[in-house]
Amino acid sequence: MTDPIFNLYYDEIYSSGLDPSARFPVSRYQKLHHKLKQVDHGNSIHWASPDLAKVDDILLVHDEQYVERFLDGQLTEKERRRIGLRPWRDSIVERTLRLTGGALAALHDIFQGQSIAGNMAGGTHHAFRDQGAGYCIFNDLAICAEKALQEKDVNRVLILDLDVHQGDGTAEIFKQDDRVFTVSLHGLNNFPFRKKVSNWDVGFENETGDEEYLESLSKVLDHLRSMNFDLLFYQAGVDGLATDALGLLALSRRGLAKRNQLVMDWCEEMNMPMVVFMGGGYAKPIEDTVDAFTDLFMEAAKRVKKDVTATDSFPKISLDEVKYKGTEPTW
Ligand SMILES: [Zn+2]
Repeated sequence: MTDPIFNLYYDEIYSSGLDPSARFPVSRYQKLHHKLKQVDHGNSIHWASPDLAKVDDILLVHDEQYVERFLDGQLTEKERRRIGLRPWRDSIVERTLRLTGGALAALHDIFQGQSIAGNMAGGTHHAFRDQGAGYCIFNDLAICAEKALQEKDVNRVLILDLDVHQGDGTAEIFKQDDRVFTVSLHGLNNFPFRKKVSNWDVGFENETGDEEYLESLSKVLDHLRSMNFDLLFYQAGVDGLATDALGLLALSRRGLAKRNQLVMDWCEEMNMPMVVFMGGGYAKPIEDTVDAFTDLFMEAAKRVKKDVTATDSFPKISLDEVKYKGTEPTW
């Protein structure tokens, strides 16, 4: 058994691979890295550098033509516009391979006996088999799910997508596949405007706040308790924050921290390993996003160190009197 350690994968190219003038908040990775280093006095995060993802792993999910055209810089202007990381740079190819590599490396840590590992990027849930969209080129969640399912001990993977945008690419990729259960809690009126069908979708109206959101999440986790999963992929986007420029919900930093705790408590209770995928976050100011992700990764690190006392200072939020809006799962 390896010693417990929280590996968080990061490379400078997560920020530097994109054009600084892009509408996407390019600096968020750099800023988050800086902030985590500042607050992690106990050195509970072990920083790790990702290798490039292997093309064979990407082909577990993606269409060969699409992959080749992307790698060769041959995507059309229309395809690039749909992805949206413009102005386009050649370095997007290496960035994409490296951040997909970060997710795969975190997965590998799980197979080496770690309980939690994370990648400080990705969660690229809008990517379909043969096209990208919404800042996503390859679907790292789907690639890691296929990779995990090659292991003899893995029969069922749970993808819990708590980004404010629906995990439409992931839902579509696994719509006929019972080995992967896709759950998405998202804003009803956010991108993508034509939603796909996950195994379980819970949509929220604009301005949904902490209590209603956390109540729904608790119910979802309660239902999932009776299903047998071998592994959890947590897409932990923080774009449900009230100050996010692209989300329409009204969650607080404290509410999101509580959300992370609920997921991690549940995961510990189920004795299930977890890979943390970062997901979206576009707050104005971007420091709000950085703070919310700092809470996420510090929480994960503390879990590994079994030092959860520091996070008990979040006030308990009453979950009793809020109506549940989710639909039943379609397993
Ligand atoms: Zn998002």
